[in-house]
Amino acid sequence: MIKPTLMRPAGPARTASRPVVTPIQPSVVYASESPDALDAQYEGRALGYTYAREGHPNADALAIRLDALEGIEDGVVTGSGMSAVAAVLLGLLKSGDHVVGGDQLYGRSLRMMAEDLPRLGIDTTLADPTRVDAIEAALRPETKLVLIEVVSNPTLRIADLEGIAALCRDRGILLAVDNTFTTPAAIRPAAHGADIVIQSVTKLLAGHSDVTLGWVAARDPELAARLRVFAVTTGLTPSPFDCWLAERGLLTFDLRFARAQETAHRLADHLAAHPGVTRALYPSRPDHPDAARAQGLLRGQGGHMVTFEIPGGRAAANAFTRGAEALAFAPTLGDVGTTISHPASSSHRALTPERRAALGITEGTFRVSVGLEDADALIAAFDAGLAAAEV
Ligand SMILES: *Cc1c(COP(=O)(O)O)cnc(C)c1O
Repeated sequence: MIKPTLMRPAGPARTASRPVVTPIQPSVVYASESPDALDAQYEGRALGYTYAREGHPNADALAIRLDALEGIEDGVVTGSGMSAVAAVLLGLLKSGDHVVGGDQLYGRSLRMMAEDLPRLGIDTTLADPTRVDAIEAALRPETKLVLIEVVSNPTLRIADLEGIAALCRDRGILLAVDNTFTTPAAIRPAAHGADIVIQSVTKLLAGHSDVTLGWVAARDPELAARLRVFAVTTGLTPSPFDCWLAERGLLTFDLRFARAQETAHRLADHLAAHPGVTRALYPSRPDHPDAARAQGLLRGQGGHMVTFEIPGGRAAANAFTRGAEALAFAPTLGDVGTTISHPASSSHRALTPERRAALGITEGTFRVSVGLEDADALIAAFDAGLAAAEV
C-alpha cells in the first residue's frame, strides 16, 4: 500500500471487500515506480496507464463491454460518434484514395465526405446502399473504403449489407459500417463481413442523452492499432466521467432496446391505420419496402425508430409538434424518452426540396425515436398531435 505522501492519494484502503460499481478514475497522469518499470509498460511487458489521452481505466471498462456487444476485440472509445467516423476516414485514408458512402449517411458523415475529404485530396462518391449494383458502379480502381449504415435516416431503408460485404471482399476494399441506428441488439455487422464497425454511443447504447461518446473497432489487429494511434495522436480520447456514465447506461441497454422496439412496433401499426397519416414506415411491417431484408438481416427486429408522414405541408407539421406537446421535438435518438424529429427542418435542411423528395422526405415527414414511456400514453400523445394537424 502506498503511503499518503505530500499531494498524492493514500492508495487503496485496507478493505476485504470491493466496489460493485466501476470506480471513476479521473487521473490524467499515472506514476510508475522507475524508468525500468516505465520501459516495461511502453514495451508491453507490463500493463499500466501513463497519460489519460493514451488510455484510462474508464475507457477500457466501457470498451470491453462494447467490444463484447459487437463481437470485435480491441475497440477504441472516442469522444463522440463523429470522432469515431473521423478516425476511420481520416486515420486510414490518404490523398489519392477514393471512398464510396451510402447516400443517406448521417448528416455530418455526409458533410465529411462532401467537404473535408475532398479538401485533403480524397475523392468521394455517394451511392444507394440498398442496391449492390449501385455501390459496384461507384467503385474505382483507387477505392479504398465503403462506408454505409444498415438502416437509413429517416426513411429506414435497409442496406444490402451482405451483398456489399461480398463485393468489398472480392475487390479488396474495406467495408466500414456505422451501426448506430440498428445497434448490436438487431445486428452485429462484423458477423456479416464488415471490417470496421462504428457506434455513436451517445444514442441508444448510453441511452440517457447525458453523454456524447463514440466507439470504433476493426477486425484486423493492424487496422485496429492504426485507429487507436490516430485517436490518441489527434486527441479523440473520451473523458473518464463520460465513459462511466455510458457504462452505467449500457448495463440496461438490452432491456431498453427490447421495450422500445415493442412499443415502436405498436406505434407503427397504430400510425399506419390512422386516417391522418399518409405513410408509416417500420422495418418489420410487411408493407416496408425492404421487409424481406428486415426479416433476414435483422432477424425480424424492427428497432426503435418509426417514420411517418402527414399531409398538409409545413403548417400541419407545426400543428402536429404543438399538439403532441408531451413529446420532445428534438433532433436526436435513442433516449429513454421518445423524441420526434422533422428531417426537412433539421437533418436534411441543407438539401433542396427536390433532393428531399427523391429520398422520400416531405414537409410532413417525421422520424420518431421511441422511448420507454407507457405505450398507451405514448399513442395518446401522437393522437393529440394528429388531431391538431388535421384542423
Ligand atoms: C448521432 C450519429 C452519429 C454522430 O454521433 P455523435 O455522438 O453525435 O457525434 C453518427 N452516425 C449516426 C448514424 C448517428 O445517428
